[in-house]
Amino acid sequence: MKVLKFGGTSVGSAQRMKEVASLICDGDQKIVVLSAMSGTTNTLVEIADYLYKKNPVSANEVINKMEQKYAAVVEELYSKEETKAEANAILKVHFDLLRKFTQNNVFLLFDEKIILAQGELMSTAMVNLYLQEIGIKSVLLPALDFMRIDKNNEPDLAYIRTNITKSLSVFPTDTEIYITQGYICRNAYNEIDNLQRGGSDYTASLIGAAVKASEIQIWTDIDGMHNNDPRFVENTKPVATLHFEEAAELAYFGAKILHPTCILPAKLENIPVRLLNTMDPQAPGTLISTKLTPKKIEAVAAKDNITAIKIKSGRMLLAHGFLSKVFECFATHKTSIDMITTSEVGVSVTIDNDKHLDEIVNELKTFGTVTVEKDMVIVCVVGDMDSENLGYQAKIVNALKEIPVRMISYGGSNYNVSFLVKAADKKRALESLSKELF
Ligand code: ADP
Ligand code: ASP
Ligand code: MG
Repeated sequence: MKVLKFGGTSVGSAQRMKEVASLICDGDQKIVVLSAMSGTTNTLVEIADYLYKKNPVSANEVINKMEQKYAAVVEELYSKEETKAEANAILKVHFDLLRKFTQNNVFLLFDEKIILAQGELMSTAMVNLYLQEIGIKSVLLPALDFMRIDKNNEPDLAYIRTNITKSLSVFPTDTEIYITQGYICRNAYNEIDNLQRGGSDYTASLIGAAVKASEIQIWTDIDGMHNNDPRFVENTKPVATLHFEEAAELAYFGAKILHPTCILPAKLENIPVRLLNTMDPQAPGTLISTKLTPKKIEAVAAKDNITAIKIKSGRMLLAHGFLSKVFECFATHKTSIDMITTSEVGVSVTIDNDKHLDEIVNELKTFGTVTVEKDMVIVCVVGDMDSENLGYQAKIVNALKEIPVRMISYGGSNYNVSFLVKAADKKRALESLSKELF
């Protein structure tokens, strides 16, 4: 069985939903993961924001506008009056729920998570109803019945596997299409939660791994992973194949086409991941598998909002255990380190979550002199970086000769070289890497 995921743009209008239907109706049984219609999750974030700010009037305005947009989609998507009525009745439940929050005096994180879940619940219900209207044996597989994160916010793989199998077994074996929600899940306390923004890709790979799918397809608005970020660099090109490790590095270091951690479940079960374009379904896209193209630099990506922290200590040289104390400080504050470089007198690390920055810095000051630099970017070059491949590092470093580089990391894996630069230099760095490397 294949798992196919369609992102927000791919289900962003009635026309797009119809195109998705024509792409998935080929007679093969499949699980289809859908995002919310494009813009919806942002709108839901906006509604929650108004509610946090105790402004129910503006929240209601946004809800009303959104409801009108959905009503227009219903009008265009379905041909039978009774299906339109059924769709409107389903949507009414969701909009009524949103409105209920505007009548409450308190608004909690728990409420926000429920609000954020409505987008995927609506898009899946709409597409499922459309498939049924055109005579496809399609069913809704509720993600909240099987998708779950644990106390550390990590996917609970055993739970997901057991419960998706149960959920699938409820339906007749001749079911053609199982439609399910991306992004949304339950947490360890059984509350509604989510897999973070862009998380529908993660849902698809978790489901793919749980059902041991033959392939996971991520359908989006571009023809595969490009060799550089198309939002910043012109004339980028799709990459035909990537090794799991290469794709994982690119996703983690900012290639928005993939959720940062969505490659791992597929890699662990050795399930190929194909990135495809809904707007150009014939394009070959990118195939991610165990196959590595030797001696090739594949792509460049950049991760924003990085903070660099340097700890300088005259005592470091002789003090074994210094690094372990530094790392322990980050671990205590549940902050993961992305990049690290060391010298005899100090260590520099980067973090992308500065929620506990003040506590971390206060604690680190007991070990040495601490300097913090915000608004940094990690630029990451990915490919076959085996140390036997001569000249690659020189070429990459040469591309950045005009740009101040704060840190360099190489040798952590065979697949990446990373640089820390100022956010203001990001575009220039990406462009000159493209010029030099591709
Ligand atoms: P979806 O809504 O389908 O999940 P996303 O917007 O999350 O789509 O991801 C697709 C977008 O990722 C593209 O439109 C593109 O702008 C952006 N992107 C960033 N880096 C890359 C890259 N290296 N290759 C392809 N797309 C990229
Ligand atoms: N709808 C969610 C978001 O916009 C999840 C996703 O699209 O992957 O972040
Ligand atoms: Mg996405």
